[in-house]
Amino acid sequence: MAKRIEQWYPPIFPLEWSLYGSLQSDMQLQFTRRGHDLFHTPGRIYSQLVEKDAESLRITFRNLSCIPDHIISLPIFPHSNPNICEIFLKDFYFQNKELPSSVISSDFIECIQIFSPNHFIIATHGSKSHCHTSIAGFSCLQQFCYRIHPLNSVFTAEVLAICQALDEFVIPETDILILSDSLSALSSLKNLSFHSPKVIQRLAAKIHIRKNLNQNIALLWVPGHSGVSWNEKADSIAKQVSDFSPYIDWIASEDIFSHLKKQSLQITEENYHKSKYQLLIGNFPDILTISKWTGNRVQDRLIARIISKTITTPGLLSRFNLHPDPLCRVCNEINDISHILLRCQKYAPVRAIIWRKLNIVSANITYDVLLSHALVNKNHLLIFVQTLKYFDID
Ligand SMILES: [Zn+2]
Repeated sequence: MAKRIEQWYPPIFPLEWSLYGSLQSDMQLQFTRRGHDLFHTPGRIYSQLVEKDAESLRITFRNLSCIPDHIISLPIFPHSNPNICEIFLKDFYFQNKELPSSVISSDFIECIQIFSPNHFIIATHGSKSHCHTSIAGFSCLQQFCYRIHPLNSVFTAEVLAICQALDEFVIPETDILILSDSLSALSSLKNLSFHSPKVIQRLAAKIHIRKNLNQNIALLWVPGHSGVSWNEKADSIAKQVSDFSPYIDWIASEDIFSHLKKQSLQITEENYHKSKYQLLIGNFPDILTISKWTGNRVQDRLIARIISKTITTPGLLSRFNLHPDPLCRVCNEINDISHILLRCQKYAPVRAIIWRKLNIVSANITYDVLLSHALVNKNHLLIFVQTLKYFDID
């Protein structure tokens, strides 16, 4: 069994994508089980997991201390009509983080009095500390604060807080104005699409239901920590969370996925540090970091081959009987990549230039030292890659 868990976290991602696929189909399963009255679509065909995947999935969920039922599912939302409600992100003067708090809070009050004097106002907040992830809502009639699964991101928490307010608050028959300090959550809702996070689609569906009941909902972004009393209140309620606060077990599949991805990278990293390759290759930024610097597959491959000394050279080829002469004709030494880059007399002038650009002082360095200079940052890497063309390698 232990072996199987390991297999879930290889450095290659396709397996995780298949896990993600499994999460998705589990969400669909959960959705049918719940039998949502408004969006139930009978007769859909769901994929069946093979036993091995199902077992791995059970282990994954156990490790995360959650069950598939807790994954945020989505009522199918008609994406053809993305304008679900009014969302104000930068329509008002006070919606500017650069302004002093006093200006934001006073302009906010003025704004509310002019534009939405009859709206029922709700402020929501999602919060994350090292102990708790929590959601809070506040209106003039009610308030709530819940703990949620710590794996959820602040983004998920912010959106869940709005969902929960719509579910839980007794709202008079009037239009609703929801205040949130999460620009990313509100922007995501504004750009709703099939690819939006599930929690956003869930919120969209809730707003859609209200709309069908002729209740309009507007969302207003308020810069965080700017003295707007509504948001300050929601913020402080969210921070009052404790181990005794009621717990809501919703969890976002996207957050599970990014957690598994992080875990996978961490395990790969740990395995590398424990392996013989670290002794051979040394301590360099991983190829994912490097590929962000190069941004081009050809360069990625070149660097990976330089690091692992698998660049095609006469010296390397002759080890496999693919080249008749392993020696450098100029220096009479084994003509491998370390000879070419570090010692070959043919390249002495080029080397002098690169060494200067990479701040290498000593003329006599090892391959590891050269790499540690070349891979120290993006700038050095690019200089190194560009000058490689003056060496006779490919
Ligand atoms: Zn040579």
